[in-house]
Amino acid sequence: MELTLKGQTALITGASSGIGAGVAKALGAAGATVVVNHSSARSKDEAEAVLKEITDAGGAGMTAQCDVSKENEVINMFADVVARYGTVDILVNNAGLQRDAKFHEMTLDQWNTVISVNMTGQFLCAREAIREFLRRGPRPEVSAATGKIICMSSVHELIPWAGHVNYATSKGGIKMLMQSLAQEYGDRRIRVNSICPGAIQTPINRAAWETPQALNSLMTLIPYNRIGQPQDIGNLAVFLASDQSDYITGASIFIDGGMTVFEGFSDNG
Ligand code: NAD
Repeated sequence: MELTLKGQTALITGASSGIGAGVAKALGAAGATVVVNHSSARSKDEAEAVLKEITDAGGAGMTAQCDVSKENEVINMFADVVARYGTVDILVNNAGLQRDAKFHEMTLDQWNTVISVNMTGQFLCAREAIREFLRRGPRPEVSAATGKIICMSSVHELIPWAGHVNYATSKGGIKMLMQSLAQEYGDRRIRVNSICPGAIQTPINRAAWETPQALNSLMTLIPYNRIGQPQDIGNLAVFLASDQSDYITGASIFIDGGMTVFEGFSDNG
C-alpha cells in the first residue's frame, strides 16, 4: 500500500511537542512538506528541533509561530504558507490544552482558555484551510481530494470526564464541527475526519504515566495494556491524509488500545 504525500503541503498545529510532533514527523516521512506550527516564542526552539528531525531524514518544511485562538495570527500564518509553498493540502488541527478543575470551582478563564484553543482554534484553522482549498480547486495530480482536514479529538468526545468538563465539552464540539464540515464540503471533495486518541504518552498527561503506580492504574482502562505513542497517531494521520482513505469522510476514528470498549465491564461490570 503506497502512502505517499509527495507534492503536498501539510500544516500541523501545536506541532512542537507530543502528538503534533509525532504527526509532523510521520507526514514528513511520507513525503509531505511540513509546516510545524508552535504557539509562542517560547516554543520556537522545540519546533525547530522537530523540523530538524524532519529535514535530517530527507524531508522539507518550515516552522510557523501562531496562537491558533487568534484570528489575525491564523490568517497571517496561512497567508505565509501559501506565499511560500503555493497552497495547503492537509490541515491537522491538533493544538489543544487542559485547564482542569472541579466544575463548581472552574473559573471563566479556565473555561474560555480551553474552548478558545481546542474549539475556536480548530474553527479558525479549518476556515482558512477550506478558503484555500476552494480558492485553489482540485489538484488531481497529487490527490483525489481537493483538501483534507484531520481534527485531533479524543476518546472524550464519547466518554464523559468529571473534573475536565471544559475539555470534554471542547472535544464533543469538535465531533459536530468535523461532521458538519464533512457534510457541507463533501461535494467539493474536501474530506474532514477526526482522530480520537486514548492515552498517548505526551506532556499533556504526564501525571497519568510518570510513576509506576499511575501507569498501573491507567492500564486498568486499556485492554491492549500499553500506553500509546505519538508515532501511533502519526501512522493514522498519514493514512487519513493519503488517497488510501479517499472514501473516508465525517468519521471519528478511535485509536486507544481498546479504551472505548470499557474494560471496567470485562469482569461482569
Ligand atoms: P501536548 O501538550 O504535547 O501538545 C499540545 C500542543 O498544543 C503543544 O505543543 C502546545 O504548545 C500547543 N498549543 C497549545 N495552545 C496553543 C495555541 N493557542 N496555539 C498553538 N498551539 C498551541 O499534548 P498532546 O497530548 O500532544 O496533545 C495534542 C492534541 O491531542 C490535543 O488536542 C489533545 O487534546 C489531544 N489528545 C491527547 C491525548 C493524550 O493522551 N496525549 C489524548 C486525546 C487527545
